[in-house]
Amino acid sequence: MAKLTINEEACKGCSLCVSVCPKKILQLHKDKLNTKGYHPISITDMDACIGCASCARMCPDVVFTVER
Ligand code: SF4
Ligand code: SF4
Repeated sequence: MAKLTINEEACKGCSLCVSVCPKKILQLHKDKLNTKGYHPISITDMDACIGCASCARMCPDVVFTVER
């Protein structure tokens, strides 16, 4: 099973990754702010992640680490 690690502090809430996830399991965490003042990305269903790394390729800030 794929394992996705999110570095919330590196996220600037740009949402670029949200649209490229084929499983639609990425969304900004509306109730949370990181120390830079952005809503960080979160994964809604880790078990649904297929480890395709589309999010990691899209993110300009290297927020995601994908292990598979
Ligand atoms: S690795 Fe693929 S399936 Fe998993 S969160 Fe990223 S884009 Fe979505
Ligand atoms: S994880 Fe990367 S691409 Fe996604 S919202 Fe955060 S900075 Fe943008």
